[in-house]
Amino acid sequence: MTKASVSTFKAPRGTYDLIPPVSAVYLAVREAISAPLRRAGYGYVETPGFEQVDLFSRGVGESTDIVTKEMYTLTQRSEGSERLALRPEGTASVLRAALEANLHKAGNLPVKLWYSGSYYRYERPQKGRYRHFSQVGAEAIGAEDPALDAELIILAVDAYKSLGLKNFRLLLNSLGDKECRPAYRAALQDFLRDLDLDDDTRRRVEINPLRVLDDKREAVQKQLTGAPMLRDHLCEACKEYHEQVRELLTAAGVAFEDDEKLVRGLDYYTRTTFEFVHGGLGSQSAVGGGGRYDGLSEMIGGPALPSVGWALGVDRTVLALEAEGVELELPAATEVFAVPLGDEARRVLFGLVTELRRAGVATDFAFGGKGLKNAMKSANRSGARFALVAGERDLAEGVVQLKDLESGEQKAVPFDTVVSEVRSAQG
Ligand code: AMP
Repeated sequence: MTKASVSTFKAPRGTYDLIPPVSAVYLAVREAISAPLRRAGYGYVETPGFEQVDLFSRGVGESTDIVTKEMYTLTQRSEGSERLALRPEGTASVLRAALEANLHKAGNLPVKLWYSGSYYRYERPQKGRYRHFSQVGAEAIGAEDPALDAELIILAVDAYKSLGLKNFRLLLNSLGDKECRPAYRAALQDFLRDLDLDDDTRRRVEINPLRVLDDKREAVQKQLTGAPMLRDHLCEACKEYHEQVRELLTAAGVAFEDDEKLVRGLDYYTRTTFEFVHGGLGSQSAVGGGGRYDGLSEMIGGPALPSVGWALGVDRTVLALEAEGVELELPAATEVFAVPLGDEARRVLFGLVTELRRAGVATDFAFGGKGLKNAMKSANRSGARFALVAGERDLAEGVVQLKDLESGEQKAVPFDTVVSEVRSAQG
């Protein structure tokens, strides 16, 4: 069969399927990122895959690429004017959900939540940049405390480390707050207006000048030498706050680099902002990022709730693991594979398979009436350490053969001791 005739359909451009065995790595990455969060009191939250467009345009920012160019908007058959979009990021939705459920009124701030899911951006696809991608994220809502910013950063670092990643760096900046940022913004605009910039960038100077600092093009970067830096404009409160975050990170043994040009692509950030970058990913080097968003709740109609959060990209974390040659120790998909020879053996072994599974042993079965040779091939391909083989003679003796597929050793095991024999053979 030629490849084209397998199916008329393909995964849409910029998307890909997760299939075994690689899909197991994605599950393990999600698990590893969320484990430190669960140990730190973050509760799981799940929100819809789509929200009202305005949540994102007000929350993420009217001037950001995410909102102006990358959102997938949906058409609905009825229900009038409600405009919906596939979620391009998680923070606005999670905050919306927390507000809607009044979690912030339960008298236990901060509300700490974690999530895992799919996000959608209409981007130019390339390695590490997809139109459908996966993030695990965390939000701590309703507290202004440098220890909370530090906690989240430490939890992300611990997640990467638990996966065995080494070659990542943490970039750290403060974007100031509503006291000091406006004056800085004006000073930066004065500087930027004198530069030789294209029309799009000029517009950005007027709407969101800080993002111009983040422009990756060399022609722009060259002109930014001598630009006023936020560091020199931070108010005392922001300086003190940032210093405390830095001290707490240092005390926890977390290395970081001060990056005063780090702005990030979402408008809602205030004060602490950070990004994790990885050296092995080429141009899409950001594996995760986040920061404080003290004004977001009010922007979407809620009360003042200073908050901080991050999202780590699962796809890029997997690429980073590949780039470092890290092989995760995944639990065996199949530990025991049962090979029946004959109908009576099928019935008996199928019963034992169920028993083993119920006892927590990952077990599979040679389905489809395969002959011995093919069934043993399947056993080997499954990655199982043991095969459970039985023919008529074994059944007559009330035993099955437990074969160690690594050493080739085999032993007869009575039916009713199979579970314990497998357990002790596993060591
Ligand atoms: P952001 O929401 O833009 O701060 O992104 C957080 C993380 O999500 C990034 O550091 C990436 O790891 C991941 N990410 C964002 N956009 C994409 C994309 N288009 N494809 C793959 N991963 C992405």
